[in-house]
Amino acid sequence: MSGPAIEPGRGAMALHWRILIGLLVGAGLGIAANLTLGPDNAAVAWTCTNLAQPLGQVFLRLIFMVVLPLVFSALTLGVVEIGDVSKLRRMGLTTLALTVLLSSGSVAIGLTLVNTLRPGDHLSEATRAELRTRFIAGESTTRAVAQSHQAKPLRDVLIDLLPKNPLQEMVGALDGSSPGGGMLAVMVFALLFGIAITMVPERTGPLVAVLEGLYDVSMAVIGMAMAVAPFGVAGLLFSLTATLGLEILSTLAGYVGTVLLALALHSLIVYSGALLAIARVNPLRFLIDSSDALVTAFATSSSNASLPTSLRVAEENLGIRRDISRFVLTVGSTANQNGTALYEGVTVLFLAQVFGVSLSLSQQITVVLMSVLAGIGTAGVPGGSLPLVAIVLVSVGVPAEGIGIILGVDRLLDMCRTTVNVGGDLVIAACVQRRETPRFDR
Ligand code: ASP
Repeated sequence: MSGPAIEPGRGAMALHWRILIGLLVGAGLGIAANLTLGPDNAAVAWTCTNLAQPLGQVFLRLIFMVVLPLVFSALTLGVVEIGDVSKLRRMGLTTLALTVLLSSGSVAIGLTLVNTLRPGDHLSEATRAELRTRFIAGESTTRAVAQSHQAKPLRDVLIDLLPKNPLQEMVGALDGSSPGGGMLAVMVFALLFGIAITMVPERTGPLVAVLEGLYDVSMAVIGMAMAVAPFGVAGLLFSLTATLGLEILSTLAGYVGTVLLALALHSLIVYSGALLAIARVNPLRFLIDSSDALVTAFATSSSNASLPTSLRVAEENLGIRRDISRFVLTVGSTANQNGTALYEGVTVLFLAQVFGVSLSLSQQITVVLMSVLAGIGTAGVPGGSLPLVAIVLVSVGVPAEGIGIILGVDRLLDMCRTTVNVGGDLVIAACVQRRETPRFDR
């Protein structure tokens, strides 16, 4: 499964530069308006309501409209790809187990840091209230805050993972009105659906083809959203900074720092640990040997685009068997995204802090589960995780529109998390190699 690239064609300025320009123009004009005219000025308010915010909404709605078909098809296909290997069953199972293990480790590190550093807590109460009215309209404000207070007991959270009626869960998944587990239940349904497909492979070819079509079409709509992203980001940033001034920017800097620190710790602790304990490889040497693939990932922000380099690095520099590297890296470029899972967990908790929505233990566990699953369901393309962040937000009662706050800084984080994603694929390949070839020495 590989989605159409969201980047523009040759000749056009690269999308991330246009988004960065959108960010700078929006934030610059917003700060200027805030400092010169003041946040209560009538012209500033008019521009925010009638120009800047609608621009942002067009962008966000283009993403939201395909979230459900995208999540369902991507997650089902992800499992089909991992499981559709009757010959390679052992390798598939090891890869799946390591994917879940490493992703859980990454999310745990991310959540520990964001709970300790609390970058979203430094806003004043007035700013927080302003953000709530801006992003959570009327009734849903009450609902989001109410949801945060009446958390379900863990037992019900677990039972609700299995949907009674998946369609009903889907209908309510984006506004938090599902009767059961909401988006998480939809994800579990997709997971079971994928596992079931691999049990009857001889009769499910056309079904898989339909899911692939659904996935590609959803990605094409995301491509349209990304085409208007520079304007959407400019609009969102203008309305934020015009009203809130510099305070919101320093909070964002704290968020970026938290994600980067968590990614670094994950690579240092979890990856080095797996390399030493399972693959029995020197992590420093592994890092040096993998550097081509890591640099490609950083530059392209896409696990899929880095795949050819990763394959070469695995075979030529790391000495990994060709059948192992082909299987693990191809599947991993879509299904194993530790950096993304970590980023999604941190982002959801950060935005919950920003909006003053307190999450109970069972809600935080929901975030962990959903982030791990979202890592499996994320397309390996730039910005592939944004639709999934939106749904994790909704499932714990944080307004999905909140991603507008972090969008402007997303490209930098995307470059870094993709590097961690690709590094994770290579780490798993080395671990599988050790299991399949116990005498493998590096
Ligand atoms: N850009 C990431 C990747 O390709 C996906 C994401 O986190 O948006 O691995």
